Amino acid sequence: MEKKCMMVVTAHPDDADFGCSASVAKFSREGWDVVYVICTDGSKGTEDRNIKPKELSKMRYDEQKNSGKVLGLRDVVFLNYPDGYLEPSLDVRKDISRQIRIWKPEILITTNPTRDLNNSTYLGHPDHFAAGEATLSAVFPSARDHLTFPDLFGKENLEPHKVKEVWIMTYGETADFWNPVSEIDVDTSIEALLKHVSQIPDPQGAASWMKKRRQNLGGNIDSDFAESFKRFIMN
Ligand SMILES: [Zn+2]
Repeated sequence: MEKKCMMVVTAHPDDADFGCSASVAKFSREGWDVVYVICTDGSKGTEDRNIKPKELSKMRYDEQKNSGKVLGLRDVVFLNYPDGYLEPSLDVRKDISRQIRIWKPEILITTNPTRDLNNSTYLGHPDHFAAGEATLSAVFPSARDHLTFPDLFGKENLEPHKVKEVWIMTYGETADFWNPVSEIDVDTSIEALLKHVSQIPDPQGAASWMKKRRQNLGGNIDSDFAESFKRFIMN
């Protein structure tokens, strides 16, 4: 029997590992194939003025691959759009639709496509909004309609696919689903997160922050640990 697949689509290497990696660790541990699709090349995320974008990009690919090994990912797919300039364009939507048709995920996790005006400290990254919007538009309708991007079905021979559930990573009031995770999953996710060496100047601080946040989220459902999402279950 084919394994069930869960896909995570984000803008940058590290987005998924900050937002949903304990859930990823759990799915992986339970025998699902988990695939990351990363829209950009991660070439802008640094304050180091001496590093070249290409060098940074390569470093971040490697970091994400290393984190993927810890999480037991089936694959990490990079779409290689330039970091910082991502738009929810038809090209991005098509590329994500292609990955959905190839991997046929039952559950797909992505970033929030909307700016949160109730937050007073964090504006949010435009690439995250773009990745979220392109992904939702790929799930519905272009991954499931053979006449949209017809060469995916024709030339590339990729059958349309209907995703059953979409989970949007969110901590705010929009969250309506808390996925319970175990301490083992949280510890695995922290080990994975810390592989993003270029993005985490204070590993100890990041580790305890991640654990605490998931502990707090667990309080919503009487679980030791959880991650929060806005969940859609498609008809
Ligand atoms: Zn990001």
